[in-house]
Amino acid sequence: MSNPIENMNNMATKHEYHGHEELFNAAWEKTNENYLIKGLKAGRKVEDLLAAMPGFKEAFSQKSLLDYPRCRFECSDGRVVTGEAKIALAGEGLLLEKEDRKILEDALAGKNITISGHESCGAAAMAYPGPDSDRYGYEGAEKLTAKTGNTYKEIHHSEFRSQIHDERALVLEGTLKFNCANWTEFPPQFLSSAAALGLSDAYIGKEVRALSGIALGDHGFGNRFNSEHPFYIIVCAKDSEQLSRLITIGQEAVKDFGDRVKVGGFVAPEKK
Ligand SMILES: [Zn+2]
Repeated sequence: MSNPIENMNNMATKHEYHGHEELFNAAWEKTNENYLIKGLKAGRKVEDLLAAMPGFKEAFSQKSLLDYPRCRFECSDGRVVTGEAKIALAGEGLLLEKEDRKILEDALAGKNITISGHESCGAAAMAYPGPDSDRYGYEGAEKLTAKTGNTYKEIHHSEFRSQIHDERALVLEGTLKFNCANWTEFPPQFLSSAAALGLSDAYIGKEVRALSGIALGDHGFGNRFNSEHPFYIIVCAKDSEQLSRLITIGQEAVKDFGDRVKVGGFVAPEKK
């Protein structure tokens, strides 16, 4: 049997938007105008572009985002951004195996944050296909919430940031301090906090592959991504060692997509 996470982009969810070409076209044009997307396309370095963007300093916190009372632990899904800070795994960690799950539970225990489950979750549909997948996803997030002593909230379509998958990038976050989801100048993005939470390299790679597959597949911008307009994996690392390790993991995870995906990154600034 194949690994379920690798099939994520093949999953049909209850709400499919890939027929809404006009929505995708408009979102594609809009995100083409994003400063970061334009600059990357022109071959500029991600760290130079970020430093020149308004909101750069504010996007980095001094303390761990886990210590923000209004931080949310949510799905990596870029449509779901409902708190003042976001930490994320696909399906709120629904697809983790035992050892990584323990690491996640220890990290979230007693943090006084909100954990959300959301409607039309691809990860939940993969783990529990059929009409009850949303309920399965909600229950998974509720169990995690109960086990870690946090607060649970269910997120429906009406609260989504976007009704379509308009992600142009995946942020592979290694610091727990980069609040990219709430940085409005930053392009729409999937967020994986797997590295920041200390999860295994194997899981990080699987998550990168699965989320990139959504962006490049029928549920995302799909074939609009090509060598000229690639999907970007942007590593935010705490130091140069982590940066090169995560870039290597990212490149390995998306090699089957060829030049439709580019992997790069930067070392996060020290905040005094
Ligand atoms: Zn989800």
